[in-house]
Amino acid sequence: MINLTKEYLKNSYGISDNVIDLYEQAIDDVNEEFSKYDEIREYNQLKVLNALQEERISDAHFTNSSGYGYGDIGRDSLDKVYARIFNCESALVRPHFVNGTHALGAGLFGNLRPGDTMMSVCGTPYDTLHNVIGISDKKNIGSLKEYGVNYKQVDLTSEGKINYDKIKTELEDDKSIKLIHIQRSTGYGWRKSLLVSQIKEIIDFVKGIKPEVICFVDNCYGEFLDTKEPTDVGADLVAGSLIKNIGGGIAPTGGYLAGKEECVTQAAYRLTVPGIGGECGSTFGVMRLLYQGLFFAPHVAIEAVKGALFCARIMELAGFEVLPKYTDKRSDIIQAIKFNDKEKLINFCKGIQLGSPIDSFVQCEPWEMPGYSDQVIMAAGAFVQGASIELSADAPIREPYIAYLQGGLTFDHAKIGILIALSKVI
Ligand SMILES: *Cc1c(COP(=O)(O)O)cnc(C)c1O
Repeated sequence: MINLTKEYLKNSYGISDNVIDLYEQAIDDVNEEFSKYDEIREYNQLKVLNALQEERISDAHFTNSSGYGYGDIGRDSLDKVYARIFNCESALVRPHFVNGTHALGAGLFGNLRPGDTMMSVCGTPYDTLHNVIGISDKKNIGSLKEYGVNYKQVDLTSEGKINYDKIKTELEDDKSIKLIHIQRSTGYGWRKSLLVSQIKEIIDFVKGIKPEVICFVDNCYGEFLDTKEPTDVGADLVAGSLIKNIGGGIAPTGGYLAGKEECVTQAAYRLTVPGIGGECGSTFGVMRLLYQGLFFAPHVAIEAVKGALFCARIMELAGFEVLPKYTDKRSDIIQAIKFNDKEKLINFCKGIQLGSPIDSFVQCEPWEMPGYSDQVIMAAGAFVQGASIELSADAPIREPYIAYLQGGLTFDHAKIGILIALSKVI
């Protein structure tokens, strides 16, 4: 870091010499790790470029549609571009998905029927899915459970591994298991994200026992962190949010599903209605942003992962427990930091807010967020509201007080934000 930057940070943000020293050591340590991610980024940029070229995307795809939105070529071609990138039959990319949960919910509701069982194989799914499934401690109105869809989960072993023995027993004993749910990212857990190679292992195992089971992957935060996506290794369906990795920080809203034609169609029938599916839906003039965001996404996802790596190292140097460590191979952009202290957790999040380009003057506070059972604090001074591909930190207010940091459209910004946040806790 040049002296000019140091002086600026000290004078404008009150960053101490101690924090600057930690910074310099952390940067030295992480630099070596970065080259691995640069190679992935390079490959994925090529993959995206080629998909756009193969689908002959032109200015005409950016035009608006209205009303029913029949024959919106921008919308229909983006589905094809995604299907190429995910190396699968079909995709459904829509600004009409209000978030990732909505896309995941459409995938689940679309592909499950009364009497079927959904089984999660990596423990409790992401918080917002609890209401969808019907395992929230609230009323679960409109949930899969209310429609007669059963739910089971196989927890990770005490060492945090997939419990293959239990999965096998369940699949053999329970004929009603129609879909297995795999969550790539950690969510609000204290575990490592699942590598695509590990997802492959799970899918191969499950299909080896019961080939017709739908393998559904919650791909949130995982896109473009590997040269392969879950659909490259046998996933029948994946879903995610456009205000995370794959929107490249440009997409203003939306979600996607990709996978087998049959599974995607079922999901499309839940986004709209049977018979209409993905063939209707005007696009409000946002298609260019979805294309452009996709184009940036391989780059932005790696900027974010670099921020996470840096965060892991500097927080570790500062004496906090982190997961994953900076040398661990990553499959999502999340960095978990354990504070064991409510105040520190809240101050860290407030520091991230203070380092944001938007709403930096706002004090974030814990609140009862829809879809979450504990109070949640969210630092998100983002250009796109709540976009967690932008630098953000959030945490359910519960022991052992873990903050989840993610995003950063540029690594340089992530570094600054993390320095400010660290200053607030030491
Ligand atoms: C973000 C996320 C979701 C969906 O969250 P939304 O806020 O609805 O987009 C689901 N699963 C995981 C693992 C996530 O990280």
